Amino acid sequence: MFKIGCHLSSVKGYLHMGREIISLGGNTFQFFTRNPRGGAAKPLDTEDIENYNKFADDNGIDTILAHAPYTLNCASPDHKKREFAYEVFKEDIARLELVKGAMYNFHPGSHVGQGADKGIELIADILNSVIKPEQKTLVLLETMAGKGTEIGRNFTELRRIIDKVELSDKIGVCIDTCHIYDGGYDIVNSLEGVLEEFDRLIGIEKLKAVHINDSKNPFASHKDRHEKIGEGSIGTAAFEHIINNRYLRELPFYLETPNDLDGYRKEIDLLKNLYKHTGG
Ligand code: FE
Ligand code: FE
Ligand code: ZN
Repeated sequence: MFKIGCHLSSVKGYLHMGREIISLGGNTFQFFTRNPRGGAAKPLDTEDIENYNKFADDNGIDTILAHAPYTLNCASPDHKKREFAYEVFKEDIARLELVKGAMYNFHPGSHVGQGADKGIELIADILNSVIKPEQKTLVLLETMAGKGTEIGRNFTELRRIIDKVELSDKIGVCIDTCHIYDGGYDIVNSLEGVLEEFDRLIGIEKLKAVHINDSKNPFASHKDRHEKIGEGSIGTAAFEHIINNRYLRELPFYLETPNDLDGYRKEIDLLKNLYKHTGG
């Protein structure tokens, strides 16, 4: 089954997002766990979560993706900032344990001049203190475009983080098509080659989700500016290959394109039309 959805606002709660994605023609969605710029989470609404879990069951939503605030920096040289990231992770994961099919995605961080080795160590430290053996929520590292001192600019850096995590079976990867294309992985001309490299360096079984975004900038520009599907440098033909690729076609896809809800509805429809249903 093609799992497709988009980023939604979480201000009105889970049930609202569930209804919204169904009305847009999707069957999965992404949302920020709290204000994307950080700060306190809303009070926990267990009734909303129970209602959502039931709604998800009834409507075939089996996976969703929670996105950590993108300002969190697990690799910060500032001890207070790392402590804050740890607290947010701990609280977010505890809450997501209650939500059906939730995975947790985050940007690994920026080393801000300390060097990638140090940054990777700091990120793994937080993951090691926050991940518990009994948790069912998978934690996904997002592939980054490599702007500034971002860690996760290539598959090797993600592999090095995963290698340092003790409970690494709780860790997965989310590929962002805009980010990896910006980062110098040519998914337009060599999708198979890129995925084989991913398999060799990380293991394809670690790949759990895809952010499906076109890019405003040319290949390998390390900029990270998302564009609507078909209006950027990646282009519709490449996305047709991506969603139908044998390694990717069963994964959930999340649009993070610059769109309002009606724009998302059209992109979901476009991608559903490009998806080739195979077998019985
Ligand atoms: Fe992201
Ligand atoms: Fe993304
Ligand atoms: Zn981005």
